[in-house]
Amino acid sequence: MSESASGWPLEMARLSWADDDTPSSAFFDDVYFSREGGFAESEHVFLAGNDLLNRFPLGQGTRILETGFGTGRNFLATALWFLETAPPHASLDFVSFEKHPIAAAALPGLAASQQRLADRWLEAHALLSERAGARLRSLQASLHDQWPDPVPGFHRRLLAGGRIRLTMIWGDANDQLPRLDGYFDAFYLDGFAPDRNPALWRDTLIARLGERAAPGATVATYSAARRVRDALSVAGFVTEKRPGFGRKREMLSARSPDVAAKAATAQPGGEGAIAVIGAGMAGTTVARQLSRRGREVAVFEAGPRAAGGGSGNPAGLVAPVISRDWNRLSQLTATGMGFMRAALGELIDGQQSRFDGVIKLARSERHAERQAGIAAELQPDPTFAAWLGADELRVLSGVADIDSPGWWFPTAGWLRPRAIVEQWLGDSGIETRLKQPVSRIDGEPGQWWIETLDGERHGPFTEVVVAAGPDTGRLIEWLGRWIEPCRGQVSWGRPAATGHPPEQGRPLMREGYALDLPGGERLFGASFLPGDEGLEERGAEHEDNRGRLAAIAPSLAKALATECLAGRASLRATTPDRLPIVGRLSEGLWVTTGHGARGLTWSAWLAEYLASRIEGTPSPLPRDLAEGLDPMRFDERAARKAARATRGQGG
Ligand code: SAM
Repeated sequence: MSESASGWPLEMARLSWADDDTPSSAFFDDVYFSREGGFAESEHVFLAGNDLLNRFPLGQGTRILETGFGTGRNFLATALWFLETAPPHASLDFVSFEKHPIAAAALPGLAASQQRLADRWLEAHALLSERAGARLRSLQASLHDQWPDPVPGFHRRLLAGGRIRLTMIWGDANDQLPRLDGYFDAFYLDGFAPDRNPALWRDTLIARLGERAAPGATVATYSAARRVRDALSVAGFVTEKRPGFGRKREMLSARSPDVAAKAATAQPGGEGAIAVIGAGMAGTTVARQLSRRGREVAVFEAGPRAAGGGSGNPAGLVAPVISRDWNRLSQLTATGMGFMRAALGELIDGQQSRFDGVIKLARSERHAERQAGIAAELQPDPTFAAWLGADELRVLSGVADIDSPGWWFPTAGWLRPRAIVEQWLGDSGIETRLKQPVSRIDGEPGQWWIETLDGERHGPFTEVVVAAGPDTGRLIEWLGRWIEPCRGQVSWGRPAATGHPPEQGRPLMREGYALDLPGGERLFGASFLPGDEGLEERGAEHEDNRGRLAAIAPSLAKALATECLAGRASLRATTPDRLPIVGRLSEGLWVTTGHGARGLTWSAWLAEYLASRIEGTPSPLPRDLAEGLDPMRFDERAARKAARATRGQGG
């Protein structure tokens, strides 16, 4: 990825508030919305300007792209109108760019002011129902509860039981729009006045929006500036001036021609039953994201219970990996973590899951120097990541003998995967079939059949998702050569004394990790043995794990005798580039595997990605990241290498 597209450093919004609840931006010296009424402006300019008040009741106009998320007021007004007027089967995708996100600490103030604005709007509103006020409050609370970390990139959140998919893209729209996949029915151009912020009104940006337009897509903006109108015309839209809001005389509304040939951009949605093979975290999250979209899902699991593989460990960490170039691993872990946290919601109860910070220590002095350099370059907001000295980390963790600096990730945490998987499989719409080892998949697009080891055939399914961890290679043979099973053993025991007050007890990582669970057990690990498929518990690996624990802080290991340790080994699926394999194999056949030791962090987000592709709705993943996970990538790379070698020989 180019340097600018990495999006760091991410500068947070600088807001100031007028007495009438209108916020302004110190960066642009302009108001976020008209002083004459924020929500009423959203309704007049963006909803009515895109004809959404008429399209929503028909289940149309439900993929919206906005430039400038700001306070989220347009989004809230849109989500409310959608819930009030769209048919129950319809879902809404709202995607919005924001270069300067509002800091989480500013949300309570924003909520209070937004509420006052909303009350004034709704008081006089004849068209919205009596429930509208409560609905809007609940949407706002749900948005603020799930507010993304200050990390550049694509952050998707689900609201209203999953009917509303909001994708907030933190970064400059000019850099991020080329990374966006999907087609949109309506565009909101809301980026401050064009003369105050010309970057958000560039012709190239507007042309790119045109490329993302579905047939009959519309555009609305409060600006009636000539150059905006011209840029929209060049981008293929037919523009029209309409009466503006408040003191503004005019605004623009535009429409793209209804070209039938744009078949790929058709309205999304699919039908028919879907089979998911594998009831680990990867398969379960896919089943859940699909069932929340109203699809009927059958999960086939070879073992006698769900989460029998890597997801069967007592607990696991959810934490980001930092890199200077913000590579795919960093994007997947940092953004995946936020999606998982939001997906867990009430399951973050301190017992099944807890997200109050993780510490990752430097491995060596050189490593520490490098990380400190990265921290200086990226300048992450400390609410997401801070590079701290050993003293501060000793205070944060309560562990007195930590002797190296490290990263502090305040929004990272841990979860108990089996408990979570079992709850999520209990969702209505998911049928879990245990002790059903799948031996074969056959059929054709739209008509897939699954054969289990007992010879029985199940189906037909319109789609099949293979999420069988290291076994995936047995079902999809050509993919098998890129999937390596890798043994990992975790250890746990009850320390004589924890060495820190219980409210601290934050997970610590170095090469291994230490995680103190609510029941008093210390979980630590893990061995990582590529190619080793043994599943027995091994004393030597307990000893290795103790060594990893002692490297974090000797006191953590001292309190635990190797003889008293329990453990569990499982196989993870790994790939040559250590990134997962997620995507389409052929029409109606999908895969998600190769999650290595990081599936808990990113699997829910990747499941939402697969569900979006299966359903044909806008992708929650940047295109280049999705390409980096594509199942064909290793074969393509091998073919390119072979071609280069041949050319080399020839030349
Ligand atoms: N739609 C917003 C709302 O409902 O609150 C108001 C948007 S405000 C007029 C414009 C927003 O665009 C600001 O939040 C600003 O930070 C953002 N912005 C400005 N330049 C940008 C850029 N190049 N890329 C993405 N966002 C940008």
